[in-house]
Parts: sequence; structure tokens; C-alpha cells
Amino acid sequence: MEDEIRQHEKTVKTALKKQNLSEPFIVGKYRCSPYMACQHGCVYCDGRAERYYVEGDFSRDIVVRTNLAEKLSAEIPRLREKGFITVGSGITDVYQPIEAERELTRRCASIFTSFNSPVSVMTKSALSLRDLDIWGKVAEGPGFMLLISLTFTNDEQRRIFEPGASSVEQRLEALRQFKEAGCNTGILAMPLLPGITDTDENLEALFSRAKEVGADFIMPAGLTLRPGRQKSFFFNCIAQTHGALLPLYRELYRENRESGVAIAGYRKQLADRCAQYNARFELPFLVPHRIYRKRLHTYDEMNILLHHMLELYQARHVDTRPLKQGMEKYMSWLIAQKADYNKKRSVSYRWLERELEDTVASGRMAGLLGNERLAGFFREIVLQGRIFDYVTLELTDPPG
Ligand code: SF4
Repeated sequence: MEDEIRQHEKTVKTALKKQNLSEPFIVGKYRCSPYMACQHGCVYCDGRAERYYVEGDFSRDIVVRTNLAEKLSAEIPRLREKGFITVGSGITDVYQPIEAERELTRRCASIFTSFNSPVSVMTKSALSLRDLDIWGKVAEGPGFMLLISLTFTNDEQRRIFEPGASSVEQRLEALRQFKEAGCNTGILAMPLLPGITDTDENLEALFSRAKEVGADFIMPAGLTLRPGRQKSFFFNCIAQTHGALLPLYRELYRENRESGVAIAGYRKQLADRCAQYNARFELPFLVPHRIYRKRLHTYDEMNILLHHMLELYQARHVDTRPLKQGMEKYMSWLIAQKADYNKKRSVSYRWLERELEDTVASGRMAGLLGNERLAGFFREIVLQGRIFDYVTLELTDPPG
């Protein structure tokens, strides 16, 4: 497959894109990627959707951003705020086969060892193991998290839908070795395919294997099929390989929603089933607080934590209205503070952190939130550095 590709070299003006922190998905503050399009050629990949403007043959025309590492070394020291830098995106894989030859991801990895920014990498490839020496150093310093995307537990099916990606066992082995090297690891169990990987048999096997290799969390999500190229490509494959499932897929994706999601009933049923597996295997479905604690600025940490708590309690069917109101009030406060901070070009992020600490310590946060219980929670996290456990939903003391 590798020798059939066409490499399109490009330079970028900026390396880092800022992420929206109210999106709790992988707690990244910035994102970068040395490639666009992907040799792994997953049949369901939403990189094929028109909205991402990836031109050419998605698995053969690979954009190579040759100056990304240089841009990163120039941009990271100038960042006013730190936070996880995510290497990767949903429309490429930073360890696809071309990386064995170009080593652009490895060059970026080396740069991260000189800076104080935590990093996370998203991939479906065991080529990530090649750089374990470097990522291990980042883990000892600012922090590192490997996110392996895995939904299949047998390679017969996997080969049909993810023809160019690493095998199931290779990906599990990568997770195991990264964990042993002191890195945080998580499984992105997405997209789960109706009637194929969303079955109880597959979920049981997937969660058992995740536990076995010491993953810190497993984040499941369903398949999205955006109308247009992505949906047609996927439906053609299903018609050829799993014809009996075609009526089911037609039914689940009959609404042709722009976001590509399946009908609500299926989404709810899948989320409830997955939440039960997460609870039974004691594997959170979100990046646990202990991983990002003190690796984000306290004000961002609280923002992510509140969004996560909302999801964690909703999954347990708890009434989250008071929490949601408190979260919205905190977000309004934070947006106003950030606007102020952005005007004060001479102060560092510590100014904003102190604003939060003072507001919590003085009791003003309780008035702002209109929720005494939540204000108490803020005191325990912001002032005492406690950790919210995503399995027991209780506060714990930091280690040591
Ligand atoms: S590995 Fe990711 S980016 Fe690459 S084809 Fe598969 S889903 Fe798309």
C-alpha cells in the first residue's frame, strides 16, 4: 500500500490550533498534525466527508506538512497558556505507514521533550512503539497520554473495515508497553458499528482486553455517517460484505442528519449499554481527573471537570439540573475573566489562576454559583488539590 501513495508536501503558517475547552472529549487545549488524509483507509472514516475538504483519494493522496516540527518549536515557547497538545486528528493518523519513512511525528516528539507541555497522541498504529523512548521521557516530565482507537476484537472483521491499520493484538501490545513505561493510556472505542462491534459479545471482549492491558479508561461512541461521500462509501462496503445488515443500517441512518448520527433511540440504547460495561469493568468513559489534574491551568481543569461530572452523573440517571446551572454560571464567570486576561498582555496565566483561588477562598464563588454544595467542591479541588474519582464519584486525596 505504501508505494502506491502520492505524497503532497505542504508548509504550514502555524502548527497549533486551539481547541474548544468546553468540548470534554480528550481534554486537549491545542492540536497539531503532520499529515492530512490517511493510508489506514478505514471504511467508516469521516475524513471522507465533504466538510473536511480532503481532496483526492483519501487513503492514497497524503498531505505531508514538512515544516510542522520547526513551527512547533517556535510556537510552544510563545504560548501564554499551557495544556495538553493533542498530536493527531480525526482525519489522519500520525503513525500511518508513511511516518516510518518521513519521521515527522518523531521529530515533533523530540521537540516536546524540551518544553513543559503535556502531550497526547491518537493513533491506530503500533508504529507508535518506535517512539516510546521519547514519549516515556515526556511522561516523566509534563505528562503523556496514548489514545489507541480500537473497537474490533478479531482481525477477520478488522481487516474489512480498517485495512491499513495495525492488528488488534499489535494495538493492545502498544497499550501494554506504553503503560509499563509509565504513560497514561486510553482506548477510543469508536466508532462502534451496529450489528458488528456493538454486540455484547464484542463489547465484553473489548472491555476485558482493555482491563488486561491496564488501560486507564475506555471511551465508546457510535458510528456517524455524514450524508455524501462518507455515507455512500460505507454503505457500499456494507452491501458487499454484510448485505444482511443493510436494512438495519438504512433504518438507523434514515434521517440523513448533517452530523451523521444514528436515530436517537439507538444512540440512547448504545450509550446505556456501554455505560454498564464501563461501570462493571471500573473503566471510566472519560479521561479521568487524576490524569489531567495539575496538567491544565486550574481554571481550565475546573471547566473540564464540571463538563465531565455532568456526563458521569447523567450516565447514572441522576438529576443534573443544579450541576448544569452551576456549570453555566462558572463558564460565564470564566469567559469574562478570560476576556479581561486577554486584554492584560503583561500578566501571566498565574493572574487568572489567582483570580480563581481568591474567588473560591473568599466565598464569592458560592454566591456566583448559587450552589453551596458545588462551591464546597470547588474548595476541595482548587484549594486542597483533591481528586474526583470517575468510578466511585467521590473525592480522594492526591497520592503521597
Ligand atoms: S486511522 Fe483514523 S484517520 Fe486514518 S482512516 Fe482510520 S479513522 Fe480515518
